[in-house]
Amino acid sequence: MLSRDESIDAEHADDVARPDAIDPAAPSVPAASNTDDAAREAGPGALLELVDVERSYRAGDEEVHALRGVSLVVRAGELLAIVGSSGSGKSTLLNILGCLDRPDGGDYRVAGESTSGMAPDELSRLRREHFGFIFQRYQLLDDLTALRNVEMPAIYAGTPAETRRARATTLLTRLGLGSRMTHRPNELSGGQQQRVSIARALINGGQVILADEPTGALDAASSAEVLAILQALNAQGHTVIIVTHDAEVAAHAHRVIELRDGAIVDDRAGTNIAMREAQPLPAEHDGSRRVELPGQALEAVGMAVRNLIGHRLRTMLTMLGIVIGIASVVCVSAIGEGSRRQLMTQLASLGTNTLDVQPGRGFGDQRAGTKKPLTDGDAKAIAELDYVDSVSPVITTNATVRRGNVERAAAIRGVGHQHFRVRGFGLSAGRAFDQRAVAAQAQDAVIDEQTLLAFFPDGASPLGQTVLLGSVPVRVIGVVQRPKSPYFDNGLVVYLPYTTALTRLSGATSLSSITMRIRSGVPTTVAEAGIKALMRQRHGSLDFFINNTEAFRQTVSRSEGTLSLLISSIAVISLVVGGIGVMNIMLVTVSERTQEIGIRMAVGARRADILRQFLIEAVLVCVAGGVIGIGLALVIAGVYNHVVGSAKMPIAGAAIAIAFAVSSTIGILFGFMPARKASRMDPIEALSRA
Ligand code: ADP
Ligand code: MG
Repeated sequence: MLSRDESIDAEHADDVARPDAIDPAAPSVPAASNTDDAAREAGPGALLELVDVERSYRAGDEEVHALRGVSLVVRAGELLAIVGSSGSGKSTLLNILGCLDRPDGGDYRVAGESTSGMAPDELSRLRREHFGFIFQRYQLLDDLTALRNVEMPAIYAGTPAETRRARATTLLTRLGLGSRMTHRPNELSGGQQQRVSIARALINGGQVILADEPTGALDAASSAEVLAILQALNAQGHTVIIVTHDAEVAAHAHRVIELRDGAIVDDRAGTNIAMREAQPLPAEHDGSRRVELPGQALEAVGMAVRNLIGHRLRTMLTMLGIVIGIASVVCVSAIGEGSRRQLMTQLASLGTNTLDVQPGRGFGDQRAGTKKPLTDGDAKAIAELDYVDSVSPVITTNATVRRGNVERAAAIRGVGHQHFRVRGFGLSAGRAFDQRAVAAQAQDAVIDEQTLLAFFPDGASPLGQTVLLGSVPVRVIGVVQRPKSPYFDNGLVVYLPYTTALTRLSGATSLSSITMRIRSGVPTTVAEAGIKALMRQRHGSLDFFINNTEAFRQTVSRSEGTLSLLISSIAVISLVVGGIGVMNIMLVTVSERTQEIGIRMAVGARRADILRQFLIEAVLVCVAGGVIGIGLALVIAGVYNHVVGSAKMPIAGAAIAIAFAVSSTIGILFGFMPARKASRMDPIEALSRA
């Protein structure tokens, strides 16, 4: 792999590092802007100052003293080598110098300013603006191209995209990676990866370069190259601190610090004494570099999108819960809406304001028949009331209907001439019987559309045709449109004058009910009270009861309300389950991406940056899941409506909007905990978990 890369390198003239001019921003003369008083007090060039620094780790019951009272002054422009055997505290020292870690005791000052009171975000600002880390194992983000890896610290510094890209391109080109910008770390050799990480350390300025065994994983040629680059950077004014085993490297330093068991045992001058004027640490942060918020947010969204696309499977699995949740919510609410609409048309079909007077004290009263029956006279008396719009006596019975060799059971309704007006039913063909036909006990019938289908399936007109009700022949004079109802019998219904039913049909001996329509505008309760009084007067006792469609409508509405509640709770439950799924996978993701979080923090990401990144990812996953879920629901509804042949599952635009809003809210709610966990990580611990 390596040798192949190198053979390619030979062909590319630009794939050769030119250490003499790596950093385009490195000033050849020191800027005279270092006005920090504390820095001056600490002596000229005293950049980093450790005073009696202690650092210990707790490993089980034992306390490991990684650093014991280390005091050290690093001057700007130095090339400092830290040597010592494994476990002597070199990395610990370097991490403290780079503000990745904090001392337990003593003080650490950067440009004269003590870091001990600094908040995590202030430390990340120092890392971002002044320090550049180079690690033994490169610590590049595997999903990002070389260019994007280099750009990352500049994103956190808020450098505008063009400036950032231009600078990253220049750095990579000067480091001999001009033709490797779009390669990912696993497509690069070790030496190339380390050069990418050097470019990353330089992108924000990198006044202090901290390299922890930068050549530890490299072959001799690559090591020499990396060291040459670091020396060149030092020559350009960067302060460079290298942790190394290599005596050769140490020999090229201005100064060599030797650690043993967490203490400095030697501090000697190296052979390289020609120290250049240092690049000073800017005392003031240049706030103008930070771009405006929309740009930052857009940057974060772009980063999140790349991350999600980079892990398609994981992203899809995370989405699954939301997809199913949203799809089921949209479907279930569409079904609910469908049944609600159906119910509404059915309720409308009941006629707006009808009352039914029936014998007995209530439904199923066994003694109903023994009481004084409802009569024609009752119906006429009711019709006299001026708030009654129309009245119809009703007799219900059953009969076998026959025509030719077709024979079906049907419900027979003997009714008055105003019956269809009372019910609000329209006729689709022919006419209804009039008052004269009722008086004359005419053998005329109005059939409903079910009956029409059963006996006249070929589309022939039924008008004028004769059918037999039991043994009674009747002539069909009209077809009535009777809306289907979930509450009533949807079988065949044949209407005929109640007078005819009484005289001709056995089993029909008295009125089953008197049904009436109340004039619109008259309150049902008022009409009901009036009719009750009238009937009581006529019958002498309460041997009847009044059934009120308004009450029925209210009952239906109430149960419809219960249904909505049920649907809403199913919706809430499935979304919460989906949200918990997201949270779960996000939590796993956070632990899986600990190293990435560590790297991002090392290059200067604030806690808020990390929080925002994970939150944006959660919201994006949920919103994408929501969109897919809505799409799925639309497909299901489309198929269902197609199969059923009517819009039984209407999906309202509002439902889609709500689903969208809900899914992003879920992202924020359930993404917050994992995101917070990520943002609270300790950079050192996160990095070491690689
Ligand atoms: P070096 O880089 O010189 O090899 P380190 O600074 O990594 O040494 O470690 C110094 C000492 O601190 C070692 O004894 C090591 O075992 C211990 N140490 C380092 N990091 C941790 C940690 N996270 N937890 C416990 N002990 C640690
Ligand atoms: Mg180490």
